[in-house]
Amino acid sequence: MSLRGRLTLFFVLIVVVPLAVAGLAASSIVSREVDRRTKSHLDLAARVAATVHGERVSRAVREVRQIAPEVAHATGPGRLQPLLDESRRLAELDFVVVATPSGSLVAGSEGTGTFLRAALTPSLSQIAARAAPPTVTRASVTLVLPGGRKLMVYGGWFVDRRYLAGLAEASGAEILLVTGGSIVASSGPSPPAIPRRPSGAFALPGGLRGLAVGEPDGRSSLVVVVPRDGNPAAMRAAVILIVLASLLIATALGSALARLVARPLQRLTAGALAIARGDLEQRVEIRGSDDVATLAAAFNTMTENLRRHIGEMRDSRDELRRVLERLGATLGSTQDLDTMLQVVLESAAVTLRASAGAVYRATGPGRLSAPTTWSAEREGPPPPRGAAVEFGDGLAGAVAASMIPARVPSREREALCPRTPEPSCETAVAAPLARGEQLVGVLALYGRNEDFTEDDLATLTSFARQASVAIENVMLREESRQESITDPLTGIWNRRYLQAALTTEVERARRYGRPLSVIMIDIDRFKDVNDAHGHQRGDGVLVELCRRVGDRVRARVDTLARYGGEEFVVVLPETPLAGAVSVARKLLAAVRSEPFAGQAGEPALRITLSAGVAEFPSDASTGEALLRAADEALYRAKRGGRDRLEAPARATAGAAR
Ligand code: GH3
Ligand code: MG
Ligand code: MG
Repeated sequence: MSLRGRLTLFFVLIVVVPLAVAGLAASSIVSREVDRRTKSHLDLAARVAATVHGERVSRAVREVRQIAPEVAHATGPGRLQPLLDESRRLAELDFVVVATPSGSLVAGSEGTGTFLRAALTPSLSQIAARAAPPTVTRASVTLVLPGGRKLMVYGGWFVDRRYLAGLAEASGAEILLVTGGSIVASSGPSPPAIPRRPSGAFALPGGLRGLAVGEPDGRSSLVVVVPRDGNPAAMRAAVILIVLASLLIATALGSALARLVARPLQRLTAGALAIARGDLEQRVEIRGSDDVATLAAAFNTMTENLRRHIGEMRDSRDELRRVLERLGATLGSTQDLDTMLQVVLESAAVTLRASAGAVYRATGPGRLSAPTTWSAEREGPPPPRGAAVEFGDGLAGAVAASMIPARVPSREREALCPRTPEPSCETAVAAPLARGEQLVGVLALYGRNEDFTEDDLATLTSFARQASVAIENVMLREESRQESITDPLTGIWNRRYLQAALTTEVERARRYGRPLSVIMIDIDRFKDVNDAHGHQRGDGVLVELCRRVGDRVRARVDTLARYGGEEFVVVLPETPLAGAVSVARKLLAAVRSEPFAGQAGEPALRITLSAGVAEFPSDASTGEALLRAADEALYRAKRGGRDRLEAPARATAGAAR
């Protein structure tokens, strides 16, 4: 059942049930009161009727006593009858009878009785014989005549309608005379039906009450009938009507009240259901300032918070997804270690909601630096880029020293050593980056609203493992790449790299119309060095030569490569022929000027070079042709006597030294 239905039922019940109970109680009380009043009315009416009846009898006795002496003086037949008629009229009696003691009628006078049936009127003979039915009220006097003869004088009234009407008028009730179970006379024209043997009080149809008062003759009784003082059935009907009307009114009012009470809750429910379906834009309308309004406001605030939290969660989920996608893409494609570490760091920081982080790299024995840092904009500053951390200092230093992941909960924040460049924060977490057994760095995160947990430490460790694998891969790749393009003896670029670099430089020079030159150098009579001092010493000379040459060309601009056994090439971007000649001259001088020292006990060797110079695009239009041109120039230098350089004639040809 709905709330509204329950409230309606509640309102209806609290109104109707007490009302019905009160109504039934009232009707029962009133009914009893009516019965009591009716009974007392009946008793009173019966007493009054009995009293009046008694008085009539007394009066009859008095009247008869007055008549009797006159009867004694008028015993003659011609005189008695008129006397009796006159006396009856004067005394307002219904009958006067003179009879012998044995009951023979001597004379009598009678009026007409108004019985229900005329036949019921007792005859004078019956009265004389004292055999009259109990339909008379009679008094008698025994008259003793001179001579001892006795006569009886009777006088009285018929207990007929007229007589009963008098009693009824005096008592205020309808009076019936009942004999042998049937009504002989009644004060009203249409007496009610009565029980066959009425006795005591009894109910009659039509809401009447009767009381039977036995007559002294024992054969008849007077029945006093009064209407009931009120109608309990009608009252019960009225009560039922009132209750029904109340039920209707209570239902209507209860329904309206229930709607009034339930509507705000229904609005709240509708809002809650909409939110449950996922509509977080839904708001509950706030009306008034009652408890429901407060609840609705709290509900709206809760929804708003929920919407914001879900929004934040979505944002952070999206950010996490983006970061992880970037991490995957970066790990899969990038070979640049810095980019890779930056992405791993950012992924770890976003995943663990850190405010700052750094990847420290092992830069020397017992030292770390932080070339890769990250900071959420809203939080404190990141660790300074490249700041050095000694092993054992702060969290990063401790993790580097132990190679065990660690975290600093906020209660131990002092453990974050202020001497280190780590940011000051409440909580931090760090894991080592290792290549096999070798420490290559530390991945550290700093600062968060809540402490980093052991779970966070495990997550960071797995990020660190990713970063370690990435570092391992990049390093391996870098090493193998280096191996493939460098000369293992001297450490300078090899011929393969030279060719690639030269192609690039020629292309660049061509596109931008820039100058480009190459120098090819060859050690003079190097075979003799080997022959005289052994191959190993020869190798030492090659290494020293590369150092001297390398020191005299531009780092990161010029390319020094080993072209063949003891032949080297220097590629000089942005350098015209004259510049290249001057560089070559410098190189020759650098070798010539100082003998090459050997190991302890070995003699210093005097070494000279020959060099050939060529320029793009004047001498050749491709890298290969440029090298060929330089080689040809070198060949000329060898032929020209060695320890000299050669270049195309337009430069400083011949001015080799
Ligand atoms: P030239 O003045 O004509 O150049 O005379 P040269 O003896 O230097 O002749 P060439 O340039 O043909 O000599 C090549 C020699 O360089 C042969 C070999 O003994 C030596 N050589 C080549 N590569 C190496 C190397 O890697 N180590 C050593 N020790 N010697 C090498
Ligand atoms: Mg040589
Ligand atoms: Mg050679």
